[in-house]
Amino acid sequence: MTLSKSQSCYIGRFAPSPTGPLHLGSLLAAMASYCDAISNQGKWLVRIEDLDPPREIKGAGQQILTTLNQLGFEFNQNTLLQSQRQQSYDDAINQLKSLSALYYCSCSRNQLKGITIEQHKCRNNTHQPSQPHSIKLKVPDKTLSFMDKIQGIYSKNLLKDCGDFVIKRNDGLYSYQLAVVVDDAYQGVSHIVRGTDLIDSTPWQIYLQSLLNLEQPIYAHIPILVNSDNQKLSKQTFAKSIDNEDPLSILLTAYTYLNQQPFQKRPVNIQQFWRHAIEHWNINKVTKVNEFKV
Ligand code: GLU
Repeated sequence: MTLSKSQSCYIGRFAPSPTGPLHLGSLLAAMASYCDAISNQGKWLVRIEDLDPPREIKGAGQQILTTLNQLGFEFNQNTLLQSQRQQSYDDAINQLKSLSALYYCSCSRNQLKGITIEQHKCRNNTHQPSQPHSIKLKVPDKTLSFMDKIQGIYSKNLLKDCGDFVIKRNDGLYSYQLAVVVDDAYQGVSHIVRGTDLIDSTPWQIYLQSLLNLEQPIYAHIPILVNSDNQKLSKQTFAKSIDNEDPLSILLTAYTYLNQQPFQKRPVNIQQFWRHAIEHWNINKVTKVNEFKV
């Protein structure tokens, strides 16, 4: 019997940034990626994306892990921390440099306003300037498409729709786009289930995978939760932390947004919740919209 990729080596993940405690919006991504992995006999990893110290809240990474444990998620306890992965990001940058895919840019946002990407002189700048600069990746005039398991075919022209993007910031921090691609590959992640707020980043990530010769995971982008002002639930929009609430109720609330088989009667405990959620998980039932208002 030949096993398809999804049956043989499913590795899924949840990759929160420690910018605050877990809230309903991030729980939705955790739950969908978990149910999809476990119902496919896969592994589910948690990775803390602590790449950006100025945006981090001290202790938030540990707090997220504690909450996930309290909610009954089962996962690797030796979590990968992006703050420990600098060497791998530098190796990837060197690989991209050897492909002449990168350039140095010391322009401010204001300087870049109102000019087309083709008019941006730094695009040919392969000499490291002495003033603070970012390292950017130059994208080609090429359309990139992928099949999202929830949202369907997604196509963007890298040059016209996406543009060049930062690989290393002018404050020396590595970009999310670079780190997520390097680490998903390092951890053998085969399936990525996350919020639609990240779907616009996916063409960049697929392009990076192709340059770095990495395998492309299967993507599924679930609707995100937004508040009445259409802002994504996040720490910045004061989403309520779920730490101190009744775990079963919060799991049931998140579950309703995933449009899965309802419970005939309220489960008696979180173990019963997870048994039902995993047994009946069907990714095709997740609603194909960008967001839900809470
Ligand atoms: N760290 C990102 C966030 O918290 C998510 C990364 C991803 O799922 O690709 O928004």
